Parts: sequence; structure tokens; C-alpha cells
Amino acid sequence: MLSYQHKFHAGNHADVFKHLTLIALMSKFNQKSKPYFYLDTHAGEGKYPLSSVQIHQDEYAFNALSFSQDLAELKAYRKIFKKYKQNDEYPGSPAFAIEMAREQDNLHFNELANDAFGDLKYFIHRTGSVHHRNAFEVLKGLMPPKPNRGMVLIDPPYEDADEYNQVHEAVCSALRKWPNGTFAIWYPLLASRRINRKTKQLENTPKSGMSEQMVLSLAEAVECPMMDVTFNFTDNDGSVGMYGSGICIINPPFKVDASIREILSLLESEVAMNGVNQSSLTWLNPQL
Ligand code: SAM
Repeated sequence: MLSYQHKFHAGNHADVFKHLTLIALMSKFNQKSKPYFYLDTHAGEGKYPLSSVQIHQDEYAFNALSFSQDLAELKAYRKIFKKYKQNDEYPGSPAFAIEMAREQDNLHFNELANDAFGDLKYFIHRTGSVHHRNAFEVLKGLMPPKPNRGMVLIDPPYEDADEYNQVHEAVCSALRKWPNGTFAIWYPLLASRRINRKTKQLENTPKSGMSEQMVLSLAEAVECPMMDVTFNFTDNDGSVGMYGSGICIINPPFKVDASIREILSLLESEVAMNGVNQSSLTWLNPQL
């Protein structure tokens, strides 16, 4: 069942964190002129009308960025954001990737939902290859990629609890064919208990803890360097369902951790609610 619609979440705290991290990763690949492969397995529409983003003011985190800090990733984000804003649009991950990549790079975008795929195909036009398949099939089919350096962004909606297992299986299988590939896997941090708005009672939330379990099982299964980055937008006190998000990065480019630490500190000072500063960057398998 494909009911998730990213236009209602675009520009939220998780999106800003994910897109700044994507910029940091692609900037590292851009340091060498050699071409690279890029796959976005769950691409969405590509870009979104600002009007649909703005109706969800409570999730409208990118609005909180002052753009005053001197951070290369923030400057790139701002440039891309401003370009799309001129047309009353907000960039999704495909838009950020297209703007960051060079002519020589080999870009692939995949989306399963029919309507979103239609928009994505129109948006990508000739700047990359577009796929209309299940994310995990397309990942399998493209392994090992050409060229052999590059990255995959995996950004599922996790509507179905089984998606956590599917990500684990798909990444382990892809790494067997492409052991040096970089994988950035986004996941939600879900409150263990949530206040029911009708009854005002705290209730257990069913998928809580599954993300953390997925990250730990991936760290056990893979032998390559792996780091886990989390950004808490607010406290885990049951007032919201998703209090933060994480990105697990396998085979991170050299020294990207320094850039990501700066991004986390920016998000803590400008985006997190009420001075929450519980972001983290943890090496689960160290870089040698
Ligand atoms: N990566 C996008 C961005 O940052 O702008 C947002 C993607 S959104 C979180 C997840 C997308 O995955 C949705 O557009 C949804 O339709 C799509 N999707 C859900 N299940 C899928 C699957 N099994 N294969 C491919 N796409 C899927």
C-alpha cells in the first residue's frame, strides 16, 4: 500500500537534516573529477510546491535556518533552495542531487507510486535515468554499478514494519556485489509512547525501536566502516510521534564526519525545539 505522500513532510526537520547530509556526502565525491554513480531508491516527486509544504507550519523546519553560519553545506543548500523558491517550489532529494552532481556523473532515481513517478520523470527529463520499480529490486538490478565509486540514498517511508527488514536484506546483498559503495540510510526516531489526542492518555507506539534495531543489526552484519548520525528535533516525551531521525552511513567518504558534526551543531542551534541538543555521531564500525 502506497499511502505516504512526501509533499506533506517536505522541508521538515528530518528533510533538512537528510538534505544537508546528502550535500556533505556529494561534496566529498565532487572533490575528485572522476565520475561517480548515484542512486536515490525512494526519490519521491523530485520537487514540491511551496504551498503544499507551507500548510504544515509545525513541520516547516527549513524556515528556521538563518543562513548566517559560514558552512559550505549550508551555502550550497541555500543556493539550491533559492533557485527553486523563485518558482514557488521546494527541492526534494532528486533536485538537491541534480544540482550537486556534475555532467560526468551517472544519476539514477527510482519511485514506485504512479503519481509521484509521473512528476519525477517529468522533472528529471534527461539529467539522469528514472526507474518505476520497487526500490529493493532496482538496487539489486544496478549492482555492481558503473562507475564503481558512488553512493545510494535509501529513504523509505517505513509505513510497513517489514521495510526495516527489507532495507537490511537489500543493503547486505548490495554490499556483497559492491563492497566499497557508500550507502546513506535514513530512518525515523519514533517515540516509544505517544499522547492520544482524543483520550489524552499515553499509548505505546507500535514501530518504536525498530529503527535502532535495524541500525544495530546492520552494524553486526557489515564489515565495512559505518557511522550512525541522529538529530533529535524535540524531546522524546510523547508529544510528537517522530521526535527525530537518523542516517546510517556505510563506507562514508573520508572526513565527512567533520562536516556532519558541523551540520548537527547548526541544526541544534537553529532547528531543534526548546534548546534540545541530543544529536549524535557514532562510529559503529570504525574507519581504518
Ligand atoms: N527522498 C525524497 C526526498 O528526500 O525528497 C523523499 C522520499 S519519501 C520519504 C518516500 C518515497 O518512497 C515516497 O514517494 C513513496 O511513494 C516511495 N516508495 C514507497 N515505497 C516504495 C518502494 N517499495 N519502492 C520505491 N518507492 C517507494
